[in-house]
Amino acid sequence: MKLRILGTNNMSSLTTRWPAYLIDGRLALDAGSLTRSLTFEEQSGIRAVALSHRHVDHTFDLVPFGLNAKVSGWPAVDVYGIQDTIDSLRTGLLGGIAPVLIEGQGEEQAALNLNVIDYHKETTVLDYSIVAVPVPHAVEAAGIQVTAGGTKLFYTGDAGQGLSEAWKHLAPDVLLTECSHGDENRTHALRVGHLTPGLLKETLVDFKGLHGYLPRVLVTHINPPWEEAVRTELAIVSEELGHEILVTESDMTFDLGS
Ligand SMILES: [Zn+2]
Ligand SMILES: [Zn+2]
Repeated sequence: MKLRILGTNNMSSLTTRWPAYLIDGRLALDAGSLTRSLTFEEQSGIRAVALSHRHVDHTFDLVPFGLNAKVSGWPAVDVYGIQDTIDSLRTGLLGGIAPVLIEGQGEEQAALNLNVIDYHKETTVLDYSIVAVPVPHAVEAAGIQVTAGGTKLFYTGDAGQGLSEAWKHLAPDVLLTECSHGDENRTHALRVGHLTPGLLKETLVDFKGLHGYLPRVLVTHINPPWEEAVRTELAIVSEELGHEILVTESDMTFDLGS
């Protein structure tokens, strides 16, 4: 399983991109910066998109991606999400401004097929098994585990305190986790359902207590104004836990094994 980081911030600018990740060039996790990170050829290789939740920083590029697929005549792409996410796409981002992408037009088929996935139920997507697990956030949200061969990657999407509940159902090899705020902003993070380095440490301790090991930890979804603080505080957490915590950046790639 090869993981490519496309966007790794929760704010969009010339130098920061919204969250999106690509597995083996064909399965996207979230779509915040799906088109602005990839060439047309690379986009045409995407066969499925799995979404963590409805927030626009995780879904926005579905519109240009769908339009590119429609204009270029690429095969329809399956989009997966929990009921809340799919309902929101149907009435909002896609249904509201680009319904042709999900409904088709005359003889022309839809560019994006929307599919609801249920929590805790393994769904086969391409050659992968994916499972959505509820995670605490400001809106209903799922973390997504992707399994290929012997490798399990769990992507938290946006999640805050209470993420440890997910560890009862999961034992991934790799954890791609958000860490949006610095610890100075812990109160706000608790209110809006995000993690700080301190909160991440707490949930990693819970994970180890339950499973006896720590997964490889890759951090994403950092709020740019807090980036320096988050990096400094994560380095301390890493030392305290005796475990590497790597802060990802756009265009990084990771070979996660098979
Ligand atoms: Zn987000
Ligand atoms: Zn969110």
